[in-house]
Amino acid sequence: MDIQALIAQAERDCASVFAALEETEIKNTRRVLDAFRAEDIAARHFAPTTGYGYDDVGRDALERVFARLFGAESAIVRPSIACGTAALSLCLFGLLLPGDELLSATGTPYDTMETVIGLSGNAPGNLKEMGVSYNQVEMADNQTKIDVPGVLAALKPNTKVVLIQRSRGYAWRASLRPEEMKEVIEAVHAVRPDIFIMVDNCYGEFICETEPTHYGADVCVGSLIKNAGGGLAPTGAYLAGANRAIARIEARLTAPGLGREVGSYAASYQPFYQGLFMAPHTVTQALKTAILAARTFELLGMKTTPAYDAPRADIIQAIEMGDPQKLIAFVQGIQAASPIDASAVPEPWDMPGYTDQVIMAAGTFVGGASIELSADAPMRAPYTVYLQGGLTYAHGKIALISALEKMA
Ligand SMILES: *Cc1c(COP(=O)(O)O)cnc(C)c1O
Repeated sequence: MDIQALIAQAERDCASVFAALEETEIKNTRRVLDAFRAEDIAARHFAPTTGYGYDDVGRDALERVFARLFGAESAIVRPSIACGTAALSLCLFGLLLPGDELLSATGTPYDTMETVIGLSGNAPGNLKEMGVSYNQVEMADNQTKIDVPGVLAALKPNTKVVLIQRSRGYAWRASLRPEEMKEVIEAVHAVRPDIFIMVDNCYGEFICETEPTHYGADVCVGSLIKNAGGGLAPTGAYLAGANRAIARIEARLTAPGLGREVGSYAASYQPFYQGLFMAPHTVTQALKTAILAARTFELLGMKTTPAYDAPRADIIQAIEMGDPQKLIAFVQGIQAASPIDASAVPEPWDMPGYTDQVIMAAGTFVGGASIELSADAPMRAPYTVYLQGGLTYAHGKIALISALEKMA
């Protein structure tokens, strides 16, 4: 196989898809700049604070910038929220009370959320222990869209939160663009304005020109070591939404009565601002990497989802390797081309909480950041690998060549 020729062919095929992405990047960069200008962001907003953090101007302005970008009334953006799961959990515990029901409109949620809800395991402090019940509606039309009549039929008097997961996560379902959530958001709010519609927006920010809050979602939640941190934010997560949702969530973030008024950060806020500024570009680089990989493996006759030229709503690329040896070689090739830990050789291992062995490649500057190039896969037929991230397209392309060489 002539790898250089294969990649060159794939790249030619992707040209018009790449051009469309760059248009979106320009529009989203303009949206970020408009939000920065509207909040008059200046160097003083980078200044660290200590202790309670009363009057932390950097923190408050960053939250207002996020609120503007999401077309939301307010936002919580904090380095102190450990990861995406922590922010999603915070959101659920803020909105739900004992006796309430949580309804997932997109089938089984992301792995770690199953533990938070109490669907799997028996982790102390989960929602089930607090007396919150759970129900889910499967996606319709071969897992491509939300079953709106099904969701309406599943609403109970005690349903308090409807959860929509934007990304495919690690399932063979479609991801959802924000406009595809509009119908269910409006239908639920029309009959039950009291219900909070919450979107797990992880992996989705800046892929489209809008976010789910622009269509009436009550709150959008995501990690800063994925898209919205632009590869520069060292940690943290955000929640953006309606005041009626944020007011409840901020009481759980710190304490009732304290809310968002406290919380210091003893390092500079600069990487959060600069990361947000970079995010539309970084996300485009990651998407180009995913699309090049999709096209390359399609040319090799393998099954990919989404197809290289399909509309996208998250940065994840699934590729069916069909064979355990190919899968392992692919993941090892990605690792070997990482900027960090390039000499580590990934092997399948028994990861706690997973039924099958798992193999992962991640050589990242920010520990575990999946906006940086990473690949992971459970060791089971049809040996599907999930590829995501890439801070630069050049790195994505080099890593893809490395993976193809290992597979050859
Ligand atoms: C990444 C992710 C999460 C949260 O994961 P963390 O690793 O805790 O940040 C939740 N849902 C989806 C769809 C995700 O992609």
